[in-house]
Amino acid sequence: MTAPFRNLIAGEWTAASDTSPNVNPSNLSDVVGDYARGSAADVDAAVAAAKAAFPAWSRSVPYARHEILKKAAAEVFARKEELGRLLAREEGKTLPEGIGEVTRAGQILEFFAAETIRLAGETLPSVRPGVGVEVTREPLGVIGMITPWNFPIAIPAWKIAPALAYGNCVVIKPAELVPGSAWALVDILHRAGLPAGVLNLVMGKGSVVGQRLLEHPDVTAITFTGSVGTGRRVAKAAIDCDPMKKVQLEMGGKNPLVVLDDADLAVAVETAVNGAFFSTGQRCTASSRVIVTEGIHDRFVEAVTARLSGLVVDDALKAGTHIGPVVDQGQLDQDMRYVEIGRAEGAKLAFGGERLNRETEGFYLQPALFTECTNDMRISREEIFGPVASVIRVKDYDEALAVANDTPFGLSAGICTTSLKYASHFKRNSEAGMVMVNLPTAGVDFHVPFGGRKGSSYGPREQGSYAREFFTIVKTAYTLA
Ligand code: NAD
Repeated sequence: MTAPFRNLIAGEWTAASDTSPNVNPSNLSDVVGDYARGSAADVDAAVAAAKAAFPAWSRSVPYARHEILKKAAAEVFARKEELGRLLAREEGKTLPEGIGEVTRAGQILEFFAAETIRLAGETLPSVRPGVGVEVTREPLGVIGMITPWNFPIAIPAWKIAPALAYGNCVVIKPAELVPGSAWALVDILHRAGLPAGVLNLVMGKGSVVGQRLLEHPDVTAITFTGSVGTGRRVAKAAIDCDPMKKVQLEMGGKNPLVVLDDADLAVAVETAVNGAFFSTGQRCTASSRVIVTEGIHDRFVEAVTARLSGLVVDDALKAGTHIGPVVDQGQLDQDMRYVEIGRAEGAKLAFGGERLNRETEGFYLQPALFTECTNDMRISREEIFGPVASVIRVKDYDEALAVANDTPFGLSAGICTTSLKYASHFKRNSEAGMVMVNLPTAGVDFHVPFGGRKGSSYGPREQGSYAREFFTIVKTAYTLA
């Protein structure tokens, strides 16, 4: 038994009064490690350390920040197999998916290493004679970060890297289900040379550690990714605080994939299966609603079903596994409950939806495909966050677009078509933050903005250069020459 993994507070690995086990969802007898479960007092110590580190860090030479982020990126790349294995073991993504996510984290660190030396302001003439105007960007202060379990290293990376690049200090609380990957990332950044207090990690429960971050008056801003329900609470708490905090929320999705009669069938099938079921459907950008025009509907459903029956659901670390387990018992219960809801609502379960037994005890679920769905069924409106998708039959493109947009969410949307006219129209008229043509709704680049509309997102975009909209604040300075 290894010693518990500790929190990083003021540059020291600090024990908490409690720990919790990090269990492998592919094999419940495999404990990845025991991880600190922090308290409100741990948050207070971490915030105090971050506040104390801020004056020096915020004025540090951008190239110093560049070097640290670049060094951390190099270590992440060098250890991508080992870290990918850790990620697959704690979260249940397949090993290739885990390695892919770790690679993404390295790319994000590298991108923001470069952004440190690109930060620029503006100099303008004033409307008043003899006066000059400068518009510059400054860091915010102490940023509180609250992250979900489904991207255990990429989401911490895409919040930490821009925060540090632009000169902020950080207190991060990763999801309690999967603290291992975030711990490894923080360890790498710490050893890459961050001064004490610049980056603090407090693992533990949302209701304790997360809640204290929201209430703490010295936390200037909160960046949150998670469910809509928690996001709403986060936003309210951030505004109720004195002073109010800047807040950024990335939340759920019920992402539509439209398949038109003129689609390339093979492309549409791969796009739908990948988007809906890979990473066990546990992606905020997953295509959980597949909207199919009637001319291709039956051929499409038949081909998707055939493709699903060839997919291997098994231990995330086994070679040949296409779909790993669901992350935990609670999520599995939720997925199974929605399978029952779908049946009761009159949808047809065309494939899957059963619990599976494998060599080791784990949360294995056969991907579920419902057909004959309508867009007002609960399985078509509510985020399930598992390998469960609804196929909705529609008459034509116009109806497909209307159904695609008829949702409280607006994260990602896709269309499979060979028509330039429909592709262009869909890009313009989709009410989603990200639109894909002949590509899965999940799967995005690291150097461009990420985020949604309606109930999916609130506040500035994450990732790419657009991240500076959240992680910096603009100052306008006037000088009489
Ligand atoms: P969640 O809302 O349950 O938890 C997210 C985080 O909030 C966790 O760290 C949790 O501990 C913390 N938390 C819970 N209660 C809190 C409280 N009272 N105060 C402060 N923090 C609290 O979400 P989850 O189950 O971890 O993740 C799944 C959700 O995340 C899905 O809805 C998914 O769509 C969403 N998600 C969105 C994106 C995106 O970028 N839009 C990306 C990944 C996941």
